[in-house]
Amino acid sequence: MNERLVVDETCHDVAVVGGGIGGAYSVWRLRNQGLNVGLYEYCDRLGGRFYTHTFTHAPDVPVELGAMRFSKKDHQLLYRTLQKVGLKTKPFLDRDQVKNDAMYYMRGRYLRKTDFRDNNIPYNLRQHERLGIDNIYRYLIQQTNFSGNASLFAQERRYLVSKDGVKLEHQTIQEFFKKYLSGEAVDILSNTIKYSLYHMSAASVIPQLIFNDTMVGENWLTISGGMQQLPVKLVKQFLSVNTKRHLLYLNHQLLSISRKTEDKYNLMFVRTRTLDGKTMQSNESVIVCSRKVILAVPTTALLKVNWEILQKPPIVSNLNTVNHQFGIKLFLVYDFSWWSDIHSKSDVFCGKLHLHNYRQKCPNPIIQHYHYYHHQVAKFASSWYATPKRTGAVILTSDLPLERTVDFGVSKQTGAAVLMVAYSSHDMWRELQKHGNHMWTQQHGVTTEVVRHAHLYLSQLYNIPVKNIPEPIDGRISQWNEYPYGGAYSTWKIGVHWSQVWKLLHKPSVIDDVFLTSGSYWNYDSDTWSENTLEVIDDIMRSYF
Ligand SMILES: Cc1cc2nc3c(=O)[nH]c(=O)nc-3n(C[C@H](O)[C@H](O)[C@H](O)COP(=O)(O)OP(=O)(O)OC[C@H]3O[C@@H](n4cnc5c(N)ncnc54)[C@H](O)[C@@H]3O)c2cc1C
Repeated sequence: MNERLVVDETCHDVAVVGGGIGGAYSVWRLRNQGLNVGLYEYCDRLGGRFYTHTFTHAPDVPVELGAMRFSKKDHQLLYRTLQKVGLKTKPFLDRDQVKNDAMYYMRGRYLRKTDFRDNNIPYNLRQHERLGIDNIYRYLIQQTNFSGNASLFAQERRYLVSKDGVKLEHQTIQEFFKKYLSGEAVDILSNTIKYSLYHMSAASVIPQLIFNDTMVGENWLTISGGMQQLPVKLVKQFLSVNTKRHLLYLNHQLLSISRKTEDKYNLMFVRTRTLDGKTMQSNESVIVCSRKVILAVPTTALLKVNWEILQKPPIVSNLNTVNHQFGIKLFLVYDFSWWSDIHSKSDVFCGKLHLHNYRQKCPNPIIQHYHYYHHQVAKFASSWYATPKRTGAVILTSDLPLERTVDFGVSKQTGAAVLMVAYSSHDMWRELQKHGNHMWTQQHGVTTEVVRHAHLYLSQLYNIPVKNIPEPIDGRISQWNEYPYGGAYSTWKIGVHWSQVWKLLHKPSVIDDVFLTSGSYWNYDSDTWSENTLEVIDDIMRSYF
């Protein structure tokens, strides 16, 4: 095969590599400085881990394969940015009942928060642990020197020690929990927190303990139309300011950085092709010149870039101070919302169960081709009434490998219903995705084995025979461990001095104008939240641009 090398003679003032929220926010921040800025993205899509997918069967129910929500209170930079670019927010999941209906399914029992409070739970707890999860958290906090002022936690967190004098940064979550709690209480927390307790520093779990983040509550927001709108809009606004000097290059993978002259760099990119969501290298390379370089890519991708600074042992060991957490999201779409309480919510099914009059109830023409499923629905409906009443919960957190199951809602246009079957850190899903046949060919299309196992667990979760769960009509699974991500998000390892790592990595060479924006290495936190990435970028912009 002939290889082709193109040398681009223009020289950017700034080349930004990575079209996720980090790269998009960087170019948007630079938009009014009169600079020549090029944004380079590996695949054919902007957004990175902001990845909204819309199923053709449910066009008005966008789902999030990556980031899905934020808090107005805790993620103010993200919220302000949304307002500045003119994007609308809405409550996450948009339904009143989320707060009250969030439920746990643990050790074979449905539990509401009040059950924990009343110790009406299948766990054998010690006397002082029997006042609910919130109280266990409170008790744990009391075993540290935290001042109790939640607004100071970011500053204090690094200096926190447990009662035995060991810094929280220097012990794993599990070590910390086990010092002060019974095994049963540790089990409850690990079943509800959903972090791996083994590798993470105990300091990482402090916000969880203080704020008791339970994934529910009126504080959570999402972006109307999907999270991916934000990076897309930021880049759109960047491009519109100067159509000649602001440029976007999709399908460019950065391979190497070398010095061209005293104040310029050569960046070598290989052009890529994206087919059905899968990105491959082509045989064409491009050399691009730039005076400054912003690398807005995750650690896994960084470690593959050939730049001598990134190979230096102190840089490599600092890049290795975070754990890359495995995480999948599995969405399945059904002809109707079989998991809901049919009696109270039958109206939202758009008349599907009132088969004789569905046309009057669902005048939208898209619904018409769904009559193919009618006999299935009818068969299902007759068995439904014989089974016990469902939980009706919008969010179910379980000790099954599904971990979190969230009802994303019913399409008003088609009546199809979308379930986030699993938001899970179990490796099992990655294995299952390698077996069986792909039910849908596009990237992230799930296999028959994934669906088979998902249905076995769903039948347990919703307490119905597996044969009563209808075949899904579409489905996607996102696995973030693959290149270029290496993990869904990252958490600090134990024994890490966050501020030192951050100081070293945001500009890894004092003599080079090359910056790393990954939120994995932010001063206070790692990139479980996109807010950290935005904070990193603001800091770099203030100091160097
Ligand atoms: C399942 C999941 C749930 C999450 N939930 C939330 C949430 O609810 N709220 C929240 O705020 N955050 C959440 N996060 C975290 C959030 O998504 C990340 O913190 C954020 O998206 C990181 O943005 P980034 O731009 O730094 O990196 P990414 O989004 O990873 O973007 C990096 C970009 O760089 C590109 N790239 C990589 N290598 C190269 C190369 N060599 N050349 C060119 N381009 C390259 C990639 O293709 C990608 O587009 C979640 C993440 C996941 C995966």
